[in-house]
Amino acid sequence: MSNSNVLDYLNNPSPRTLGRSPLEWLDGLQKPTVIRVAGRDRTRTRALATLLHGNEPSGLFSLHRWLLEQHTPEVNMLFLLGGVHPAKISPRLTVRQMPGGRDLNRCFKEPFEGREGEIARAMLAELHNAQPECLLDVHNTSGTGPAFAVTITNDAAHQALTSLYTDRLIMTDLRLGALMEYSEQEVPTVTIECGGSQDEQAHQLAYDGLVRYTSRQDVLSLEKAEWGVGVLRNPIRVEMAEEATIEYSLEPTGRADLTLPPDIEHRNFGVVAPDEPMGWVGDKGLSILTAIGHNRAESVEQVLRAKDGLIYPAQAIKVFMITTNPAIAKSDCLFYAVKATGEPLF
Ligand SMILES: [Zn+2]
Repeated sequence: MSNSNVLDYLNNPSPRTLGRSPLEWLDGLQKPTVIRVAGRDRTRTRALATLLHGNEPSGLFSLHRWLLEQHTPEVNMLFLLGGVHPAKISPRLTVRQMPGGRDLNRCFKEPFEGREGEIARAMLAELHNAQPECLLDVHNTSGTGPAFAVTITNDAAHQALTSLYTDRLIMTDLRLGALMEYSEQEVPTVTIECGGSQDEQAHQLAYDGLVRYTSRQDVLSLEKAEWGVGVLRNPIRVEMAEEATIEYSLEPTGRADLTLPPDIEHRNFGVVAPDEPMGWVGDKGLSILTAIGHNRAESVEQVLRAKDGLIYPAQAIKVFMITTNPAIAKSDCLFYAVKATGEPLF
């Protein structure tokens, strides 16, 4: 299938084609869309993908605003809007992926099956053609919380890109078929998690970061970095068994295998000491949880311990990407964890 069957293209779009609001713009989009904007220096290109998840609007909002303002970027810009189809499902910008479809940000690898696989392959072909000097992929987290970046490589270029948006960088060896794995093609690639999809702050950060990304001569040198970046290495993912149940409650009702307090998100990027309870387990204990590190399952008892129905960290840990969305908790993961120092747990 040729790319033009899968993607639409906009070149230097004028304000009158963009609609008055991002939602009006989205209504006019029919497919995942490639937007190219010519820069002052036409010999270089930077790329930015966003909306890979249809319910994560900060990237779309910031891009719409930036395009309406008709900036001339320092270099050519290649923007890729991935999940236009799920984003258009009513009420708009609330559906992560097509019903029955796959998570687009798990499809950037062989065998590129199904509709999402076709879209991922077409996006990769655009990147290959454009040969960008770097790539950002802008997301929102499922709950509220501070912004952070994720990468599979931790070097000066990745830290410099991170610093355009945030001072926290998570480096992972996990390979899930995410777009950020494009940095294995020698193109520095960073995923930016701007914060919650409902947070005005997250939308503003996405815009401020986009302005920095498009207006600077050099975005890959650490000397030019906005902030010093703290790196959290190889977090383990704590996942739930498919058949397990979860509730968010101030105390367990006895009906769920796992109970977490509704304000657990406040733990994001904080250190939890071994004597601080994080939640409750039912009769099945910790057996409903799995710890995934370095692409393999590890014993969850190295991360958490249960005592009298309460869950504690097995050692002081820093946790992040904690979700209070039961669907995400079950389909993706509960949270990530590293040692309090930012080093891997194992
Ligand atoms: Zn996302």
